[in-house]
Amino acid sequence: MPDTSAPVFQVRGLTKTYRTGAAEVQALRGVDLDVLPGEFIVLLGPSGSGKSTLLNILGGLDTPTGGQVIFRGRELGAADEAGLTRFRREHVGFVFQLYNLIPSLTARENVQLVTDIAADPMPAEEALRWVGLGERLDHFPSQLSGGEQQRVAIARAVAKRPQLLLCDEPTGALDYETGKLVLEVIARTNAELGTTAMVITHNAAIAGMADRVLRIASGRIAAIERPPRKLTPAEISW
Ligand code: ADP
Repeated sequence: MPDTSAPVFQVRGLTKTYRTGAAEVQALRGVDLDVLPGEFIVLLGPSGSGKSTLLNILGGLDTPTGGQVIFRGRELGAADEAGLTRFRREHVGFVFQLYNLIPSLTARENVQLVTDIAADPMPAEEALRWVGLGERLDHFPSQLSGGEQQRVAIARAVAKRPQLLLCDEPTGALDYETGKLVLEVIARTNAELGTTAMVITHNAAIAGMADRVLRIASGRIAAIERPPRKLTPAEISW
């Protein structure tokens, strides 16, 4: 039987240095972290502090300079390009600030791009109903509002039933009310599907929805806070 309480990620001494010409940026300077199954983690911190770098490495989009990332007992650093692609395809759903939908495909077709290659996907229609867009299946991105487009992007991420939902500023381009709807979908996915979620945000109000809040500063975890009780989006005062 799998040990479901074992960490999803064990991160040890993680560093990342970017070199562009003669310049060197130490984006991560030694991160240690265990991520537990089903956790909702919020990452807060100033721009340039290393949040996206950390999320991209955990999601297999980027590789570390030093240290270890162990995903369910397997060292991600040992994976080659094909192994990382498989890891992303099988286990990770990404949501970015920009929705990255294909304009010439409908909502349903955008989600099907993923469900066509996933091992055990939910039908695209079910994923779109999950995010509240059951009535918009055949709309093109240009016929949808920003918040609706972001919900299509979440449907696309969730449809493959990923173990991890990694969100980089998912409400960064949205107004308040629309952003709230998007966060509700992320919170519900975490609560009801048990998907481990990590969300980068500038909105400290979201922190109340988290199991743990990581404050990132200068490439390190400066503090970890554990809100006394995980709030639902409806309970948050925005
Ligand atoms: P945050 O997400 O907290 O805004 P990032 O992880 O995006 O921070 O960036 C951390 C630092 O690494 C910044 O100084 C940024 O300019 C630098 N950086 C990020 N990605 C790259 C890259 N691909 N090449 C060079 N420098 C980068």
